[in-house]
Amino acid sequence: MRAYKFRLYPSEAQEKELNRHLWIEKNLWNTLLEKTKEKYEKEQTFLSVKEMREYAKGQGLYSQAAQSVVQNLDRSLKAKIRAKRKGLKWGFPRFKSFDRMRSILYPQSGFSLDKKLDVSPFGEIPIVRHRMMKGKIKTLCLKRELSGKWHAIFTVEQEPPTPRVNHGPAVGLDLGLNRLATLSDGKFIENPRIFRQFERKLAQEQRLLSKKRKGSHNRAKAKKRVALVHEKMANARKDYLHKTANRLLSNYSKIVMEDLGIKEMAEEGHGKGIHDASWGMFTHMLCYKAASAGSEVVLVNPKNTSKECSGCHAFVQKGLWERTHHCPSCGLVLDRDINAAINILTRATAGMAGNRRLLGAGGAPSAPRADAGSNACGDEAKLSSLKQDATRFSGW
Ligand SMILES: [Zn+2]
Repeated sequence: MRAYKFRLYPSEAQEKELNRHLWIEKNLWNTLLEKTKEKYEKEQTFLSVKEMREYAKGQGLYSQAAQSVVQNLDRSLKAKIRAKRKGLKWGFPRFKSFDRMRSILYPQSGFSLDKKLDVSPFGEIPIVRHRMMKGKIKTLCLKRELSGKWHAIFTVEQEPPTPRVNHGPAVGLDLGLNRLATLSDGKFIENPRIFRQFERKLAQEQRLLSKKRKGSHNRAKAKKRVALVHEKMANARKDYLHKTANRLLSNYSKIVMEDLGIKEMAEEGHGKGIHDASWGMFTHMLCYKAASAGSEVVLVNPKNTSKECSGCHAFVQKGLWERTHHCPSCGLVLDRDINAAINILTRATAGMAGNRRLLGAGGAPSAPRADAGSNACGDEAKLSSLKQDATRFSGW
């Protein structure tokens, strides 16, 4: 699966309708959630999909859109049940404000694409297709950005790519906050300067926003300007991550990284969670691009990768602020992140059980490659949660 995003130019009347749909979606989500909570209090069970669908019918939404609201809610409730079973902290999904309800999803039908995008019930919307889509279109998402722009996002099923042969070495990759990543061979990938410029600009716009009176017209305008900077920054970041992922994949035949899913879970109980939204995005990109680059991505258990000594495997306690690894057992002195990256690489090559091998260059016959893009990094729910984070922190 691959996604294509194109700018839409709805007429004023269409935009009004689109926004009205989002409004109904938001109300539907909140009502269903409230009903589920009530039912849970009385009977300790959730509303079934069937019950939710029944309720959703009369709300004036296009059927496909209503169905996807129900599916989303059901999916996030089920994720909560899984968390509860694992003994993790859980709570109900959150009620949504209008700003948080930003997309109308067509999981199967209800649209066709020619010169314009014809989509029920909004009619023909002008679309700028700046690139060719290859493959069969599966789903459509109409998305409203915080800046007020509209986009159409298509997911497309593609023919499995012919894998290239990659003779590059294997490498361990430690994702970080200061640098984007440190490699086990001592190279590192910067977070480029341009993001700092965006951050300054963002801080400036936010300062201006904070001075505007609540509810005023000027405040709304300032809010939009903040959203625009967010958007530009997110786009620049995405572009950078794409290029970096391509470069890595053409140089290395095997890329070993920490399994962010396990990392998050391990930190959940401790209230830590030092995360960067771009980590998930970057990992996901490497995973789905790996097959066509003839490379393989392996995710390993992240436990103590920064504390283990890569020379003698002794456990060396260190705080987050300590940038250098000093091993009292074997005397190894090494940059903290390089040490971690070497450990990460070793975990894959030592064949530790539990590694998730995502995409082989030859494509393991048991792994259907058509699904690689969407499933390589875990289940759909996981991916969408990463995406949500990415939007929430679109500060990047
Ligand atoms: Zn050592």
